[in-house]
Amino acid sequence: MNISLLVNSATQKLIDHVEELTILDQAIGDGDHGLNMKRGSKAIQDKLAQWSALSTQATLTAMGKTCIAMIGGASGPVFGTLLLTLGKELPEQPDHNDLARALRLAIEAVTRLGKAEIGQKTLLDVLDPLQKCLAAGGESLVARAKQCALDSCEATAHMEASRGRSSFLGERALGHIDPGSRSVALIVSAICDAL
Ligand code: ADP
Ligand code: MG
Repeated sequence: MNISLLVNSATQKLIDHVEELTILDQAIGDGDHGLNMKRGSKAIQDKLAQWSALSTQATLTAMGKTCIAMIGGASGPVFGTLLLTLGKELPEQPDHNDLARALRLAIEAVTRLGKAEIGQKTLLDVLDPLQKCLAAGGESLVARAKQCALDSCEATAHMEASRGRSSFLGERALGHIDPGSRSVALIVSAICDAL
């Protein structure tokens, strides 16, 4: 697994979708999610060459620190905590069981940080089904993981928000996809396409 290739694909996908993410966050948040993800992605891309000698774990840790320093808002600490936990828990050549275990710990860390629960219309509603898909393993796992992320992202449109900025809207958030969930789906689909 070439981590910098995967990171480059994922960050480029977020940059290419900045307008879509902005529109989603304008509907149920404050409209900054696209630019937040673009700023974090660009900062990571700028440092990728510098990180080329690092292990996968050290690269993930450096990315997490960059997210916390550069993104701000809710998504900076959330993506930062996810990446820091993955950096701590993943072995150098992870299989699907390693990924499932590290992702479960990362979800728990984000839950401790932001107090959101599954079903409250946050990016946890994509990460949790993805974790279960990875834990189950089986045939065509890459294709199924991608589809799982895309489907769970779409499903957030049917959830009311009770965490984060969109919680002020409650059921008025119905019909709108959660912006952070869309970012996770974009990241996962870019990684799966590049694998
Ligand atoms: P902000 O909400 O500060 O404007 P962003 O717009 O960049 O930050 O990110 C919003 C996204 O962050 C949401 O769509 C949601 O997926 C995610 N999010 C917000 N609060 C939480 C939380 N407490 N736990 C997990 N994810 C959260
Ligand atoms: Mg926002």
